[in-house]
Amino acid sequence: MDCTTKFVDRVNGQLIDKPKRAFDTNEQAISHAKMVNALPDRKFKVVAYKCKTCFKFHVGRNGNNITDKEKDKWNKPKGFTIVGKIDLNKFK
Ligand SMILES: [Zn+2]
Repeated sequence: MDCTTKFVDRVNGQLIDKPKRAFDTNEQAISHAKMVNALPDRKFKVVAYKCKTCFKFHVGRNGNNITDKEKDKWNKPKGFTIVGKIDLNKFK
């Protein structure tokens, strides 16, 4: 059974059923959720969850807004944290 989500058609304003994207694994759904949450204009946080209907994984809103702190965390490149300068004279 395919899962759907309610979606407002931009052309006529009617509520239509849009098929939900299903992921086979939790990991795939989580990585998709992270990508969506990292988008610059994102206002609502999305999370991965296991569906009770199709037993696959979907990504959906959990009702929380994304905090600026979380955005900072996701947007920062990994491995470039500057912790301080090394004084080379200490090693002589
Ligand atoms: Zn489902």
